[in-house]
Formats: sequence, C-alpha cells, structure tokens
Amino acid sequence: MSIKSNLLAIQSSLPSHVTLVAVSKTKPVVDLMEAYDAGQRIFGENKIQEMSEKWEEMPKDIQWHMIGHVQTNKVKYMAEYVSLIHGVDSLKLLQEIDKQAQKHNRVINCLLQVYIAEEESKFGLDEKELEEILDSAEFKSLKNVEVVGLMGMATFTDNKVQIEKEFKHLKSLFDKFSIYNSQFTTLSMGMSGDYKMAIDCGSTMVRIGSSIFGGRN
Ligand SMILES: *Cc1c(COP(=O)(O)O)cnc(C)c1O
Repeated sequence: MSIKSNLLAIQSSLPSHVTLVAVSKTKPVVDLMEAYDAGQRIFGENKIQEMSEKWEEMPKDIQWHMIGHVQTNKVKYMAEYVSLIHGVDSLKLLQEIDKQAQKHNRVINCLLQVYIAEEESKFGLDEKELEEILDSAEFKSLKNVEVVGLMGMATFTDNKVQIEKEFKHLKSLFDKFSIYNSQFTTLSMGMSGDYKMAIDCGSTMVRIGSSIFGGRN
C-alpha cells in the first residue's frame, strides 16, 4: 500500500465533520510530499525542531500542528507559523505562547491536553485544573492565544471498553466546558489504533500516523 492510497482510504472513511491530521513525525520530507500531492494539507509533528525544518522546506500552504509535549523555552521557534498546538497543559505555557504570538502579530490556536489514560507517563490536566485555567483572570486577559478545544490520549491497551470509557469521559468534559467557552470547536482524540472508536465517541479531529506512513522505528 502506498502513502497515497492509505491516505485516500482513511480520508474517505471519515465523516465530513472530522479533520484528519497526518502525523508525520520521524518521516522524511519525500513521504510528506507524497501525502501533500494526494491533497493532505494538515501535518502533525511532535518535535519543534523537526517540524521547523520541514516547514522551511515544504510548501507554505501546509498547516503545521504541534502534537507533542511543548517546553516553554521552545515556543519561540514555532510561533511564526504553527497553526494549532494540541498539547498545552499549563497556564504558564499559554502565557508564553501568547507572548511569542504577539511578537508575530498573530493569534495561536491551542488545545488543552486532558489526562484521561491510566498510564503515569502521559501528560495532561485533570478536570479541576482545566476549570482553574479557563476560569482564571490571567487566562482571560490573554489576547494572542485562543483555546479552541481539548485533546487527549487513551491508554495504550487492547481493552476497547477502557478506551471507550476514556474517550467518553473526554467528550463529557468537552461538552461541559463548551457551554461557557463558545470558541470550543475541536475535540482532538483518536490515533491509528483507536480513531474509529474516538469518532463514535464524538471526536472532531483525529491524529493518524502509522496507518498512513507506515510504522516508525
Ligand atoms: C505519534 C502520535 C500520534 C499518531 O500515532 P499513530 O499510532 O502512528 O497513528 C497521535 N497523537 C500523538 C500525540 C502522537 O504522539
């Protein structure tokens, strides 16, 4: 199977309200260009340096999504061009994104990452922390960031019942916070192994890597 045929098969299986982020981390530019030539314009990367190198080399109508954990001191390297930052997990990081976005006279869209898995290693906020950030005066004063929704990763397991429970939990938080955050439009959940379940649970954005580009080392 080619990258193009993988991409087109997945793209045509998605409902029209679901956006596909092609997760291209570790893959060479030739592979991304194959997806680009097949019509893909949204790519997800998890390292800022790698994403910036690809941004410089590739066509400028691509939307670059940062899906990895972001260190505050590295925001400046992507502030000029990044189109959505999925993994925001603190007010401090939002404040830094705001500051760097201001330097480029733009508003950077972000998703707050919610901790829904059972694994210790995953990043993210719990419900209370989410509420504290969204309710804070500091957050409300930020002019150059817009929080447009939530992102989460389910536990890495074959247990479908557990994955479904975690996705439904994230969807319920999304619905709850959408009520008084009218800019909430995006619920980023689902990867190669679980995106169909994620869509059934209310995802509006799936992040798919290996099913498009093949396995990573
Ligand atoms: C790597 C990655 C993906 C894509 O994973 P696949 O299983 O290859 O589809 C999605 N989301 C995040 C946050 C990732 O780091």
